[in-house]
Amino acid sequence: MNLVLMGLPGAGKGTQAEKIVAQYGVPHISTGDMFRAAMKDGTELGLKAKSFMDKGELVPDEVTIGIVGERLSKEDCEKGFLLDGFPRTVPQAEALEKILADLNKNIDYVINIDVKIDVLMERLTGRRICKDCGATYHLVFNPPSKEGICDRCGGELYQRADDNAETVQNRLDVNVKQAQPLLDFYQSKGYLRTINGLQEINKVFGEVEQLLGDLI
Ligand code: AMP
Repeated sequence: MNLVLMGLPGAGKGTQAEKIVAQYGVPHISTGDMFRAAMKDGTELGLKAKSFMDKGELVPDEVTIGIVGERLSKEDCEKGFLLDGFPRTVPQAEALEKILADLNKNIDYVINIDVKIDVLMERLTGRRICKDCGATYHLVFNPPSKEGICDRCGGELYQRADDNAETVQNRLDVNVKQAQPLLDFYQSKGYLRTINGLQEINKVFGEVEQLLGDLI
């Protein structure tokens, strides 16, 4: 099961990715998570990514494509993978085709979680994440029972540095501009499946399951 998850920031990619991984056991490959982990560890990759991420800009392709190529050639991707947040540009999508061809693999589906842009600002600025287990909450739509504390593991909740209003606006602008050509690219290849991301979380996942039923 070789999947790409697409959707603007805040569309619910992370939430659906978590469910897909739990249900189907494929590794979750999120370039955003990889950059955040590298930043936390203070590696060279982290330092490179930080200046772009802090402004809500895309990390240059040569950096991003390299780490994805390396990750996809690991053994755990033999049974499939779920790419989340990559590709974000047509050149990245073209590079991915080449990486996969070299590995003798291809994409089964590109799942696009579609949410209109006007609701995303509110979703992103209200988002809070558990420092320990990564669970996501929303101050209004999905609040934890105790303010600032994760229901699942008791960890402390934090706001991502790039979820402030100014950076969110820039992230949305950058991503909207890149998304349409990418959707057109995957539409033309026949991989694209669009799901309405304004529905309740389990309803969205129900549609994902229906789609993936063909692959198992
Ligand atoms: P995300 O967690 O997917 O929202 O990504 C957070 C940030 O990481 C983005 O705003 C970019 O700065 C960087 N990033 C993540 N994935 C990519 C990508 N495929 N290409 C370039 N930059 C990326």
